Amino acid sequence: MIQTAISRYLHKHGFEAFTPKAVLFDMDGVLFDSMPFHARSWAQVCSEHGLEMSPEEAYLHEGRTGEDTIQILSRRLRGREATAAEVEEIYAGKCRLFNACPEAPVMPGAARVLRRVREAGLEIAVVTGSGQRSLLDRLQTCYPGYFTPGRVVSSKDVRRGKPSPEPYLLGLERVGLRPWEAIVVENAPLGVEAAVAAQIFTVAVNTGPVPDSALLEKGADLLFPSMDALADAFWL
Ligand code: CA
Repeated sequence: MIQTAISRYLHKHGFEAFTPKAVLFDMDGVLFDSMPFHARSWAQVCSEHGLEMSPEEAYLHEGRTGEDTIQILSRRLRGREATAAEVEEIYAGKCRLFNACPEAPVMPGAARVLRRVREAGLEIAVVTGSGQRSLLDRLQTCYPGYFTPGRVVSSKDVRRGKPSPEPYLLGLERVGLRPWEAIVVENAPLGVEAAVAAQIFTVAVNTGPVPDSALLEKGADLLFPSMDALADAFWL
């Protein structure tokens, strides 16, 4: 299955060889089981501001920057762009609610995937649409020794968030590699779209409520039901 996926990947992008030297991990829904809290916080803050959004819809925006999500809702429900002050107020409210949630557990299996990646001699980086300081700080405490600040791309580092390829292209730049020298691990349809647009071999792990088809339709090269399943199948 993996060899077939690699052949398909090379053909799709017209690359000659796939020689992975780094794995770029998304954060929420991959390293932390934090999406239920994000979805609930988004739904609540949006309803407080008259921008109704269900927790289910929040999963479909996963990976976008907070500002992009707020603008999509504002255009749809108010027929106009949100002002900078509105964006700031709503996003600050969302972060407050998220920070009041219980601490998001680490994703089962993620530590095992990181260990296998390290043992295979590959570099490790994080590319997240999040700007949540609390979780970015917890990367260091929950996964000691794996993440250095220079190898974490967050929403603050990019002009355009996922599904634009920009975050993943910046991730490649941070590790000094080309697309065919990296692997992305993603759980969200828009994250898969961003990684595929950056021409990186994309492994989807479906840790949330979206159907597998939503990840495959965006072009995921491989799909696993969990980080544990990825750790079991890790092939490098
Ligand atoms: Ca995610």
